[in-house]
Amino acid sequence: MVPIDDSNPAYIRDMNKCILCGRCVRACHEVTGIDAIEMAFRGNNATISTFGDKPVLLSRCETCGECVNRCPTGALVYRSNRQPTREVKTTCPYCAVGCQAYLGVRGNEIVRVRPTRRAHPTRGICA
Ligand code: SF4
Ligand code: SF4
Repeated sequence: MVPIDDSNPAYIRDMNKCILCGRCVRACHEVTGIDAIEMAFRGNNATISTFGDKPVLLSRCETCGECVNRCPTGALVYRSNRQPTREVKTTCPYCAVGCQAYLGVRGNEIVRVRPTRRAHPTRGICA
């Protein structure tokens, strides 16, 4: 059994449930360009790891959630399973690019964020 990495406040990594499909690695590399995780080790020891096999909170991870959205097993799961009751389209204020996103709202709280698929410049990416 590999210890569960619950260092990140937004999601939990349980590599015991990983099937090594590589979707999270591709998302982190090809979609976000952050490269916080990678395939590591060989044979029965093969796993998805951060640089130096550190807890994900100490890695380059920016907690964008792209890997969690793509994981087909329970290896990567959000801490909160609260579902939004409505969505509000908005523009991310983080930088000057102007990515579009939908905020999932429950009551007066934002519980989810997902990218828009068609609007420029996002085109399905929320990095
Ligand atoms: S949350 Fe984002 S930055 Fe962090 S490992 Fe997943 S895809 Fe990479
Ligand atoms: S997406 Fe999930 S199952 Fe696939 S390699 Fe990543 S952690 Fe493992």
